[in-house]
Amino acid sequence: MKARKRFGQHFLTDESVLTRLSNSIGVQEGDVVLEIGPGHGALTEFIYGVPSVRYIGIEIDRDLIPQLAARFPDLELINEDVLRVDLNEILQGESVRVVGNLPYNISTPLLLKLSEWVRETPGVMIDSHFMVQRELGTRMCATPGNKNWGRLSVMIQLMFDVEYLFEVAPESFKPPPKVWSGVIRLRPSNQWQDVPADTIGQIDDVCKRAFSGRRKKLSNALKHLEVDWAAVGIDDTKRADDVTIAEFVTLANYVERKPD
Ligand code: SAM
Repeated sequence: MKARKRFGQHFLTDESVLTRLSNSIGVQEGDVVLEIGPGHGALTEFIYGVPSVRYIGIEIDRDLIPQLAARFPDLELINEDVLRVDLNEILQGESVRVVGNLPYNISTPLLLKLSEWVRETPGVMIDSHFMVQRELGTRMCATPGNKNWGRLSVMIQLMFDVEYLFEVAPESFKPPPKVWSGVIRLRPSNQWQDVPADTIGQIDDVCKRAFSGRRKKLSNALKHLEVDWAAVGIDDTKRADDVTIAEFVTLANYVERKPD
């Protein structure tokens, strides 16, 4: 089994992990399932065959397409880079369950693309189940006060409830990656749905600045924003590690409304 490094190919071979992952997903009759990077079909085989399911696979490696097509006749195959496809065009208004043992080199941009897509197209995603690097999974579900709390935690949790389901050892893959992996579940959340798109961009900006000086007090890390800390009601001696999503939203609103 040849593996292409540039496509982040580490194929799952451990049947107990595949069983656990497919049980966590639990494909149901009538679902629309989009698999990112089906590869040689290891996960596809475990989730395939449920009646009345629309199966879609987006795989960048064209050499893998013929064998996937032969093995899974009902899998709609799209030989593209998932970061470049228009998901709405593929789904035509159907709500989807997204799954994948993600190529690690594109996990972060893909997660940010999916967040933006879900924000712009409410109701489009039912849930997602992804294998990611353990460290990335930990960051996605971190909470304030934890050293893993960062920009990605905020941006993902603005859109999703995140659950860390289980860990997977390197030996479960061929070739084995250098690090452990983790399976995460994302469910779109309504909690921050009233935050307008422009404000989301501003939150991202504030987060970038705050976390790039994460050991500094907020008053220092965000000095250039000239925040009236008493007016926003946030303790300016806090460090970014302790700032909650609600406080980032408040800060972003403040920056947006502040006269130049
Ligand atoms: N699902 C298979 C498994 O579990 O054995 C393969 C997982 S492997 C970690 C990642 C897969 O994603 C590979 O098949 C790779 O070719 C594909 N891939 C990498 N980059 C991609 C991209 N930008 N768009 C779509 N597929 C991609």
